[in-house]
Amino acid sequence: MKNKPVNEMRLEFNSKSINEGFARYAVSAFVAQLDPTVEELSDLRCAVSEAVTNAIIHGYRDTPGTVYITCKYYEDRTVKIKVTDKGVGIEDIKQAMQPLYTTDPTGERGGMGFAIMQSFTDRLSVRSKPGKGTSVTLTKKLSPKR
Ligand code: ATP
Ligand code: MG
Repeated sequence: MKNKPVNEMRLEFNSKSINEGFARYAVSAFVAQLDPTVEELSDLRCAVSEAVTNAIIHGYRDTPGTVYITCKYYEDRTVKIKVTDKGVGIEDIKQAMQPLYTTDPTGERGGMGFAIMQSFTDRLSVRSKPGKGTSVTLTKKLSPKR
């Protein structure tokens, strides 16, 4: 990976669940410029979808807020997607990232979001401060151009 991205885009949108699909499509349309495989694109879509859903339902707890996404790619076909919220933040990141860990009281969530992000990317990095918000960075290097 080189220091300077070849291309970069930024998005910001209201933290409404209806925007999850929009975010997923927007990122995938941008990444499509690299002509990824169907699987690579679907992996990234899934990972983005989990990160954005978390920002909306956990970060902002379904209250009004703004979700920020930056997406860039580099000469060597590494894609970096950062999803940020200025919501409640995470007290214990390590615990939150454990598979099956969830703070959802309804029993509807499986606590698998971070595990999915991890398995569908090469690298997952989470930064968070309680009361300030959370930033999730997903990195994936696409296979060489066919
Ligand atoms: P699932 O993703 O399977 O529907 P989940 O969202 O609870 O369930 P993860 O996505 O793995 O599972 O997240 C685990 C926990 O980490 C969440 O229950 C929540 O407590 C915390 N968390 C995740 N993202 C954020 C965020 N952006 N802001 C605050 N807390 C978060
Ligand atoms: Mg989740």
